[in-house]
Amino acid sequence: MTNKLTEEIVRKVPKVLLHEHLDGGLRPKTILELAEKDKIDLPEGTPEAIAEWFHRGASRGSLPLYLEGFGTTIAVMQTKEALERVAYESLIDAHLENICYAEMRFHPGFHTQKGLSLEDVMNSVLTGMSRAESETGIKWGLIVCAMRNMEPSVSMEMAELAVNYRNKGVVGFDLAGEEAGHPPKKHVDAFHYIQRENGNITIHAGEAFGIKSIWQAIQWCGAHRIGHATHLIEDITLDESGKIIQMGPLAQYILDKRVPLEICLLSNVQTGAVSSIEAHPLPIYWKYKFRITVNTDNRLMSNTTMTNELMTIIKHWNFNLDDLEKLALNAMKSSFLPYKKRLDLIYNVIKTEYAKIRIEMEK
Ligand SMILES: [Zn+2]
Repeated sequence: MTNKLTEEIVRKVPKVLLHEHLDGGLRPKTILELAEKDKIDLPEGTPEAIAEWFHRGASRGSLPLYLEGFGTTIAVMQTKEALERVAYESLIDAHLENICYAEMRFHPGFHTQKGLSLEDVMNSVLTGMSRAESETGIKWGLIVCAMRNMEPSVSMEMAELAVNYRNKGVVGFDLAGEEAGHPPKKHVDAFHYIQRENGNITIHAGEAFGIKSIWQAIQWCGAHRIGHATHLIEDITLDESGKIIQMGPLAQYILDKRVPLEICLLSNVQTGAVSSIEAHPLPIYWKYKFRITVNTDNRLMSNTTMTNELMTIIKHWNFNLDDLEKLALNAMKSSFLPYKKRLDLIYNVIKTEYAKIRIEMEK
């Protein structure tokens, strides 16, 4: 049977986004306007050219090179107005492709270069996100990131910030940045603090480094979700037909405990975490029922959207409407929103909208 899922339908279905960086998803036009206002030089002068510049820079097959473009987005996000606008637009753009729930993440410490306090930074972002919710109804959560290449004391400061803002929209704590040479274990004190405060933890792991990084993230730092987990496949032995011969103890643990994996397909190709889309372990994780979710990572740098990520999956592995619903449910179940709010979105948005679309498609 040919796949009936057109881009129009995929844009229309309710989607859940758990892994997107606030400083990686700006509108190209906004970057130009903010740079002009703050007198910041940019390498290109039109929205098309600057978008292309970011994407080209990100597609050089290495995570450190992929991360270089963030210097430019962060440079234009140094005022209250800029932070509020970027946060607001990130959710508006999500709403425009029918994302019903989005978790955005960022490192607040990057935005104090021109004198803002960490509280100014947090308040501006949260104000922008609340404004988007009141205009569109989109639900959201904010994740505070610590950076792996920074000192553990900075991570602790970020962890305290996350806990202080948890009643104002912060739902979790993350560790991001360059992975190789920066093991999560170094930041264990910040994660233990979050654990003692009953907080939620996700950690980027297994993107630019092997399974040891994923193992440390879960078993040392208490991660409830894993960002990427691309290299988890190294713990799984397959035969030539793709059948599992042996599953290592970490993969088995992740499968059994239903640890959610925040897959970012196109970003993984751009950073060289996989050599091609065809080489991505996503279909194997899916076949053996790991709890996978689909994400954009950085809509600007990776030149992508949730619709685009899902279309890529449909094109390569022939996912159907039931599969897309399962991915949305996986993500909603795995979100850091309180249980009752998760159920509300599952039953009153995702399941009802999918039922409607299913009927429309059968007509
Ligand atoms: Zn990421």
